[in-house]
Amino acid sequence: MCKLKKDGRVEELEKYQKDPIVFCNKCKMQANDPCLLCNPRAIKGGRG
Ligand SMILES: [Zn+2]
Repeated sequence: MCKLKKDGRVEELEKYQKDPIVFCNKCKMQANDPCLLCNPRAIKGGRG
């Protein structure tokens, strides 16, 4: 995700930003798959 942004792959970013469950604590990006982020954090405050 973070890499996709760096590479300018906006179409893929939009797909992965739908219904996000995690965000990158470093880049502040949101995604629906933590594997896409370099420093993923859960958006919801629960223990999930
Ligand atoms: Zn990141």
